[in-house]
Amino acid sequence: MKDTFKHRGMRNKLAEVLVKKGITDTKVLGAIKTIPRHLFMDSSFEGHAYQDKAFPIAADQTISQPYTVAFQTQLLQVKPGHQVLEIGTGSGYQTAVLLHLKAKVFTIERQQELFKKTKLFFGKMGYRPKKNIFGDGYKGLPPDAPFDSIVVTAGAPEVPKPLMAQLKIGGRLVIPVGVNDQVMTLFIRKSEKEFEKKEFGSFRFVPLLENKN
Ligand code: SAH
Repeated sequence: MKDTFKHRGMRNKLAEVLVKKGITDTKVLGAIKTIPRHLFMDSSFEGHAYQDKAFPIAADQTISQPYTVAFQTQLLQVKPGHQVLEIGTGSGYQTAVLLHLKAKVFTIERQQELFKKTKLFFGKMGYRPKKNIFGDGYKGLPPDAPFDSIVVTAGAPEVPKPLMAQLKIGGRLVIPVGVNDQVMTLFIRKSEKEFEKKEFGSFRFVPLLENKN
């Protein structure tokens, strides 16, 4: 598959849809306009890649809906050089959005099949996360902590304590919390012990599962 003028046109339209739904961060919109989402999906879904919808990828997982990716990324307030941890590499699309914002990205995936697939794909596309790890995101990534921000891209029944502990002071954790559907939740670390919590409405994610597959 290639990236064509037509795909670029569809991406610009998708960005307009996201603006109508309330996304305001121009850098995030720039990422949506630039990243060839169709290349992160099975070729049979190519025609759907620029609809604002989640789609199946391998291992019974999904590539998140563009609005959800944009919404979560906007809450992270990524600055160039930020150290960002992503839990749930999945298709790698969110990883590419973070790289576009010039973050140093550390990404963890617990499905072996997806981990291997994205490793190859990142290489082919020239995307360079600092680390692309097969493991359990519940534990975070102690050797590379603390992080400026952490994004969890699967629905967490509860907030994993290690992720809170691995935030810098002033750092932001964006995590969908809940079992059947999830409340998008932002934690800002105010001090060693204090966290400010904000909630942003309901979303639907595949579940965050413990331990590796
Ligand atoms: N960011 C992805 C979203 C993929 S869906 C994208 O843009 O495509 C969520 C992903 O989280 C799935 O791939 C799932 O396998 C993964 N996941 C679930 N529990 C996990 C855990 N404990 N650690 C790491 N990844 C996990």
